[in-house]
Amino acid sequence: MLKSLSSPVWHPFTQHLTDPVTRRITRTEGAFLYEEDGRVVLDAISSWWVITHGHRHPAIMQAIREASEHFDQIIFADYTHEPAEELARGLIGLVPPGLAHVFYSDSGSTAVEVALKMALGFFHNRGAPRSRIAVMQHSYHGDTIGTMSTGERGVFNAAYGPLLFSVDTLPFPSAGREQQTLDAFEHLCRGGDIAALLIEPLVLGAGGMRIYAPWVLAELKRIAGVHGVLFIADEVMTGWGRTGTLFACEQAGITPDILCLSKGLTGGAVPLAVTLCTPEIFEAHLSRDRSRTFFHSSSYTANAIACAAACANLEIWRTEPVAERVAALTQAHSARLERFRSDARFADIRQCGTIAVLEIAMPEGGYLSQAGPRLRTFFKDRGLLIRPLGNVIYLMTPYCVTPAELDRAYEAIDEAASQDVGALQ
Ligand code: PMP
Repeated sequence: MLKSLSSPVWHPFTQHLTDPVTRRITRTEGAFLYEEDGRVVLDAISSWWVITHGHRHPAIMQAIREASEHFDQIIFADYTHEPAEELARGLIGLVPPGLAHVFYSDSGSTAVEVALKMALGFFHNRGAPRSRIAVMQHSYHGDTIGTMSTGERGVFNAAYGPLLFSVDTLPFPSAGREQQTLDAFEHLCRGGDIAALLIEPLVLGAGGMRIYAPWVLAELKRIAGVHGVLFIADEVMTGWGRTGTLFACEQAGITPDILCLSKGLTGGAVPLAVTLCTPEIFEAHLSRDRSRTFFHSSSYTANAIACAAACANLEIWRTEPVAERVAALTQAHSARLERFRSDARFADIRQCGTIAVLEIAMPEGGYLSQAGPRLRTFFKDRGLLIRPLGNVIYLMTPYCVTPAELDRAYEAIDEAASQDVGALQ
């Protein structure tokens, strides 16, 4: 059986027996991936949500080239460097007001791990330890043991259950049932042991592209504030324009105590992550007593080339009409989703900014539903990179996508929905 596998590479989220990875990408540009045989693929999910402006934005590539003339990896204890300093200053000026410190790491998962450690360290160092984390039903925060612990339990992490720590889960605030979520949070907070609420603002990504209202986010922040519970916003996916604003928290008018960013931080070109926090959290770790140090590091902390790429990304946001592009893309999705709204083939149509979601109506939903692989192949055969979450099809393209390219994606979804529903009957 194994002899038929042609490569030693073990790919993520890939069942090698049924879905071997055979197609090779030789180049990327704009909204496209180019395969070695000349096929062109529209990257309609921004290569797992990382690419914001488009693949290989010239300014980001140039910044990488220039930084590599001076830097590679530099140990980030004892030393600092200008790309990290410049990026931190730039970020503080961009994020919701009140965040004052920037801790570097290298992936969304590590950004969230750092956030959890900051939260527990905060209470520990103040001599009033709290140890529980509240999360939302259907949430996803990464694939390390810590972040899996905070995510929805299911097929993704069933094998690792014995190692996962327990969390307190709030019901998802679906439209009309928001008060249940708020009441549940209030009740939990009264227990007194909740250190932090860890939350994906406005859109729960891997948990099914579930969208909830900004006022709920604002209320959750208010309740957290009343009870001294830290509010951690995981904007790893929602950050950098995806929800229509630079950060999703802006739509609720809130500043989280801790903010996690990655993916679009470098425009998606190279890995980098940051965890930002308030002065109170930083200061809880400031002491002549060295046991109160924030004990977290990873070898590639604040990679100078990645930081330079992120600085170039910030410059793009400052100088190019990115907000206008995001608004136009939001509008383009709204116009195209309209025709599916009363279409019985779809159980739900929803949108948050540049994220468009079409949930195919079928009896067996969920990530492992047969619809997922069938749809993926269908789209792949039409030169579209779309990876539905089970029966939930979503588009999250780079912002440079053209209306004509979007039309092509929507036409294919229309065709797929008919075929797929047909296949089930
Ligand atoms: N948080 C959220 C909300 C995410 O969507 C993801 C990744 N999709 C992560 C954390 C983990 O990021 P990474 O894959 O870079 O570790």
